[in-house]
Amino acid sequence: MQDDRYHDPETRQARAPETELDRDPATGHPRPPRREFKARGSFVERCPGCHLPMLNCLCPYAATADSEARVWLLTHPMEHHKPTNTGRLIHDVLPDTEVFTWYRTAPDERLLSLLADERFAPFVVFPDDQPDYAERVVGIDAVAEAKAAGRIPVYLLLDGTWRQARRIFRKSPYLDALPVLPLRTERLTRYRLRKPASAAHLCTAEVAAELLRQGGDAEAAGVLDDYFDAFNDSYAASRRFEKIEAPTAAMQRLLARKG
Ligand SMILES: [Zn+2]
Repeated sequence: MQDDRYHDPETRQARAPETELDRDPATGHPRPPRREFKARGSFVERCPGCHLPMLNCLCPYAATADSEARVWLLTHPMEHHKPTNTGRLIHDVLPDTEVFTWYRTAPDERLLSLLADERFAPFVVFPDDQPDYAERVVGIDAVAEAKAAGRIPVYLLLDGTWRQARRIFRKSPYLDALPVLPLRTERLTRYRLRKPASAAHLCTAEVAAELLRQGGDAEAAGVLDDYFDAFNDSYAASRRFEKIEAPTAAMQRLLARKG
């Protein structure tokens, strides 16, 4: 099992034991072993394109869409390499999506420069359940106002577990000046790959789809929702060792987009 430390469980490819990815750039300390997702799926053959088990590869359903708003992901390091992470689905559908890794002591320089770029109007997406930042909370209409002012609205999503997202929100001073946009929705999660604390807890791709929809990017939202459903169904079926023989309705819509 020791040998497993040096294999990426997603790709089953050997990786160098001492790459910079193995060390936290802030401290130089070795990163914690990636235990969380080793237990499941380590020995499944995965597609190099979509990283899903080969049994139900997602690649035929890959689709892109245009949107006025953009999505930036600030992803907790523990979340980055999990095959069940849905943040990467957003990047697949919206290629302008930016993905940053969060480190408490070393903010990403590119993120800092983008936050300072006047072309963008970034909103940090977070619940409005604490009083100490109430004056920064805005509604979805602020997205339309940003567009009217000629700026590109950006949904900055804190990608991790609820605890990790709260930590990112609280421990990142460069987010302190941003407006806070809570997602208000009656939608319940359709994510089946991890057990949510509550059905009201949406996964990252679902949050993005809902914000896009509410913010006026209905087509992009629909494509992302379909792609998320295809991912969810494909992955769940592979875990049961079942092959999906007939494409689902969402899969058929994605195939139709290719013409
Ligand atoms: Zn694939």
